[in-house]
Amino acid sequence: MGMNPREMASLLVKEIEESEAKDIDRSVGTVVAVGDGIATVYGLPEAMLGELLSFPHGGKGLVMNLNEDSLGVVLLKGAEAISEGDPVSSTGEVLEVKVGDALLGRVVSPLAEPLDGLGPIQSDRKLPIERIAPGVMERESVSVPLETGLVAIDSMVPIGRGQRELIIGDRQTGKTSIAIDAIVNQKGKGVYCVYVAIGQKNSSVAAIHERLRSLGCLSYVTIVNASASRPSPELYIAPFAGMAMAEEWMEEGKDVLIVFDDLSKHAVAYRALSLLLRRSPGREAYPGDIFYLHSRLLERSCKLSKERGGGSITALPIVETQAGDISSYIPTNVISITDGQIFLSADRFQAGFRPAIDSGLSVSRVGSAAQTKAMKEASRSLKINLASYRENLSFAQFGSDLDSETKKILAHGSALEAGLRQVNYAPLPMEEQVIVLFALQSGYLDGRKDEEVSTLLAELLEFAKDRGSELLAALREKKALSDESRKRIGDLLELFFTKEKK
Ligand code: ATP
Ligand code: MG
Repeated sequence: MGMNPREMASLLVKEIEESEAKDIDRSVGTVVAVGDGIATVYGLPEAMLGELLSFPHGGKGLVMNLNEDSLGVVLLKGAEAISEGDPVSSTGEVLEVKVGDALLGRVVSPLAEPLDGLGPIQSDRKLPIERIAPGVMERESVSVPLETGLVAIDSMVPIGRGQRELIIGDRQTGKTSIAIDAIVNQKGKGVYCVYVAIGQKNSSVAAIHERLRSLGCLSYVTIVNASASRPSPELYIAPFAGMAMAEEWMEEGKDVLIVFDDLSKHAVAYRALSLLLRRSPGREAYPGDIFYLHSRLLERSCKLSKERGGGSITALPIVETQAGDISSYIPTNVISITDGQIFLSADRFQAGFRPAIDSGLSVSRVGSAAQTKAMKEASRSLKINLASYRENLSFAQFGSDLDSETKKILAHGSALEAGLRQVNYAPLPMEEQVIVLFALQSGYLDGRKDEEVSTLLAELLEFAKDRGSELLAALREKKALSDESRKRIGDLLELFFTKEKK
């Protein structure tokens, strides 16, 4: 900005005198300083907070600060071409992005401009990126599951449509993989997905795009990419733009899944902007309204009532921690805004337990209401058995003489842990997960090696598809267990483990 306040003041006074003399247009202002993606604009006394301003050569900016005699404007487009003295005109509009089905299968910027070389987005529907979240009376409680296809999540931290579940963990612990698995698992289920990449490498986003394409999932997915190489304003608006796209579908009565990967980088971008806008820094140098920023974003995800069409937005925000510290500023904020968190542990990830979910620190506060009856029954004692396994395991490290009861708990727990491992991009449907969970809790797998557990479970599923196709179909349809199906599962397990695999 390179100008001292006195210079600035005299410039402003001069401008005011001139403008008063000429009675100039109140809808045109002047750039007095520009740099780092921020412009200070003099004039435009009627400008509103959040209003879109238009600069020469197609430049666009968003009013973020209303000062007494100038405006702090964040530049979204054409920042390079803007220089001091340029005229700025108000538009009377807020920032809107294109929404609608034309976005499906596309990779777009936060301004909904194509990034995939497939031509312009053919849609004339637009929505403002900032909207007020639906009120309490317009909402309904979560009642339908949003299955991720990962046994460890769907059984222990179930997510419902309209829920906000945080995925949190250190770097490289499989956070993105869980979100992508959840997207892959929505294939054929009528759920639209929006993946918002904030501050990621372009190559990672390209790899995700390619993966979704090869799995045939692009037809229901939109990728919004504000990569690390883009200026902070773009990163700042990206999740809001993605949310507007999701809202259009929700209002049509559809179910939408939106992933924010990740909000830590979003917070950093917003901090950079705020410091440049000279807002005062608070804890960890983040601006005071960072909590409000994320809460007004995540508040928009909900399940609408029948009268409003019954659509939903399920949000999976991702937050990166440093050395597992979930009590630092951004993690605690987002934990308190969401309806639960999936905590990924770096130690478990390194030890080969993938997905590296820490079942002790992970919770889902509303999802169990949406879990299918079959799943609820199949996973009933899982969490508690795992907890008692962990507890005994830490004791077992010290003593060599273990009583038979402890040995049994250890053998059972280790089979459970092994059985909950799952490679990425291989989601399992609910009925197969139920079979896996019954097998794990049956005791047939206790005392076997980890690799053996995985192979046996894979073979069991093949066996079930072959011999128990009716059972699987009944589970899929009824989503609950009857005495009949319980007996059939028991018979199937017995047949497999005692006859086929001795
Ligand atoms: P970053 O912090 O860099 O964003 P992340 O936490 O999002 O990382 P991912 O990129 O999802 O982590 O995963 C890191 C690596 O671990 C990837 O190479 C991924 O393929 C692998 N991985 C993740 N989940 C699994 C899994 N369930 N089974 C096997 N490999 C996995
Ligand atoms: Mg990631």
